Amino acid sequence: MRQPFVAGNWKLNGTLASIRELVAGLKSGVDAVGDVEIAVCPPFVYIPEVSALLDDGRITVGSQNMSRQTSGAYTGEVSGPMLKEFGVKYAIIGHSERRASYGETDEKAARKFVAVKQHGLVPILCVGETLVEHERGNTFGVVKRQIDAVLDFFGVEAFEGTVIAYEPVWAIGTGKTATPEQAQAVHEFIRGRIAEWSEEVASRIQILYGGSVKAANAAELFSQPDIDGGLVGGASLDASEFLAICAAAAK
Ligand code: PEP
Repeated sequence: MRQPFVAGNWKLNGTLASIRELVAGLKSGVDAVGDVEIAVCPPFVYIPEVSALLDDGRITVGSQNMSRQTSGAYTGEVSGPMLKEFGVKYAIIGHSERRASYGETDEKAARKFVAVKQHGLVPILCVGETLVEHERGNTFGVVKRQIDAVLDFFGVEAFEGTVIAYEPVWAIGTGKTATPEQAQAVHEFIRGRIAEWSEEVASRIQILYGGSVKAANAAELFSQPDIDGGLVGGASLDASEFLAICAAAAK
């Protein structure tokens, strides 16, 4: 039985004051949420503050990106060992916004994915098709290519103990959500692709859905057999909305 998991991606949002308020809201409501793993992914500069505030470990901390390099002349980058020093557990890799705006190719995402694991963090690999790809009926082809980049370079063991987030790009921040059936079909496809290499790894990997998840649509999405929780953007900036989404994923 896979543990349900909900992660909040705060993206480029917040001030010190607003993140303190958001964390206080999460801490005051989280005890009422059932058995579900919860993480929040603040902008890098707020990670030390958020980690310190969430020191009891009920809600863990992730980063929105990570450098493949450990140290050296890589201006503007943040490495795995640096993140570990501040208690970071997860790192989102290959988010569609990074693929679209920062040149993150399948190969770069795959190499980062493995670097995250090597540094003892858990990668959350984002995959998903754009609107054009969706309309051309190429969803499975795109997702397969993104997953295969890891399988072909590093083998199926690379996916052991990791997380995949299926995020149709046309559903991110748009208010449009994949139907539970559409999302389930892609999640089943992803698990099936990994199962072609290893049934054990496929049965254990957590596959999250992301794309305009809200309290109002979360329960239906999470009731699907291959949807193990959510990666939540906009709705993770509101403590009560985010906790309601977490509660919908709880066992
Ligand atoms: C995301 O950016 O990962 C995301 C899913 O955003 P939203 O929930 O706002 O669509």
